[in-house]
Amino acid sequence: MKAVTFQGPYKVEVKEVPDPQIQEPTDAIIRVTTAAICGSDLHVYTGRIPMPLTGWVLGHEYIGIVEEVGDGVGNLRPGDRVVGAFTASCGSCFFCLRGWPSQCPSQQVLGFGIGPGAQAQRMRVPFAHFTLEKVPQAIPDEKAIFVGDILATGYFAVQRGGVKPDDVVVVVGCGPVGLMAQMCARLFSPKAVIALDTVPERLELAYQLGAIAVDISSQDPLRIIRDYTNSRGADVVIEAVGHANSIRSCFQYVRGGGTIAVVGVYSEPEFPFPMFQAFVRDISFQVGVCPSRNYMATLLSLIEEGRLDPSVIVTHVLPLEEAPRGYHLFANRQEGCIKVLLKP
Ligand SMILES: [Zn+2]
Ligand SMILES: [Zn+2]
Repeated sequence: MKAVTFQGPYKVEVKEVPDPQIQEPTDAIIRVTTAAICGSDLHVYTGRIPMPLTGWVLGHEYIGIVEEVGDGVGNLRPGDRVVGAFTASCGSCFFCLRGWPSQCPSQQVLGFGIGPGAQAQRMRVPFAHFTLEKVPQAIPDEKAIFVGDILATGYFAVQRGGVKPDDVVVVVGCGPVGLMAQMCARLFSPKAVIALDTVPERLELAYQLGAIAVDISSQDPLRIIRDYTNSRGADVVIEAVGHANSIRSCFQYVRGGGTIAVVGVYSEPEFPFPMFQAFVRDISFQVGVCPSRNYMATLLSLIEEGRLDPSVIVTHVLPLEEAPRGYHLFANRQEGCIKVLLKP
């Protein structure tokens, strides 16, 4: 089969690789109908996350059709249309049973050099009984694919922030996850969603999604946030960038007693946390990787009801063979690229 393989920084190649086989009773083999390139794939692509090994298959955002299941997968059959979480968790350990599949000790990372990757014609899905969710036929791939990763992450950010009706919510960053967070925040009837970025096409999309779009390279976000909050600051600040300056700015934007929820991937070992300020201002600080398995069914229902349409961020749909171009466009933000889907 054909698959997108990592061959070193700035080098991905579509190559012929062996078809995946069932290895464990809880595995399934799916025929991938759509895969996506995620911002976290770019961390590998650009070499920010160093990967010594090459030749492995990229990708962890996927939707497809079940072709084969192991003996231990009782809830799926060949022919089922399924979407999957971006990591595979066992579904039966202490953490999985308490709603933290992201902390499952048996968790398998997909598409980062160790586990199977999704940007391929076929994929082996570990713990398929728990990792995969059936998709109603009425929802097209272009919408459903997002529930396994970035839409779930946006929803998780809003949950962690505890967004309530009439809140003023600031979202720092209008990349795919930031846009998803803005979309999800609106489900909870906020007074305003204020979206910060510097890239014109991303701000335009944020505006179309109903946010107050602020270009922080030419406008003063603090003044605008104060205008909307009687000078208090935002009730909830969601960080969807993952840089130190961006996280630091959240402490300026949040009101006393408010909440900062960080879902941007900040991969440095330490951050200079403003401890005394957080203490005297009663700031809650949330951070973490999304247990996307928890939200997939809820989000599919919201999409089916027409209350969420994550497909609005898709700018490029390319055949799998054009994955190298897709990575290049996404990494360099060319052709207005916000989100690339691949069709194997
Ligand atoms: Zn991802
Ligand atoms: Zn588990």
